[in-house]
Amino acid sequence: MSEHDGGAVPNPPARPRAPRPSRGTLVIARDRCKGCELCVEACPPRVLTMSSSLNEMGYRYPELGPGCTGCTACQMVCPDFVFSVYRFTPAAH
Ligand code: SF4
Ligand code: SF4
Repeated sequence: MSEHDGGAVPNPPARPRAPRPSRGTLVIARDRCKGCELCVEACPPRVLTMSSSLNEMGYRYPELGPGCTGCTACQMVCPDFVFSVYRFTPAAH
């Protein structure tokens, strides 16, 4: 098939996006979580996912993947004070 034969040119397969380096991290007090998922929706880089296991209250809780920016959106939206956010500081040269 060529661009002159009128056929559609297939797009190249999408390359999986490499996760960006993390600029922050979380301590997650998972047993305080009530599973509302507000944090998952609020996270701009979408690096929070809900666990498949349950906490001691019987709720799924968020788990952190790579790429956290330390923006604190999850901390601000969580009604149950589950998150402590820490930002990495660049190494001094
Ligand atoms: S600090 Fe920001 S980027 Fe990191 S998990 Fe929370 S909402 Fe997502
Ligand atoms: S916002 Fe808080 S209570 Fe809701 S799922 Fe996230 S950590 Fe759990």
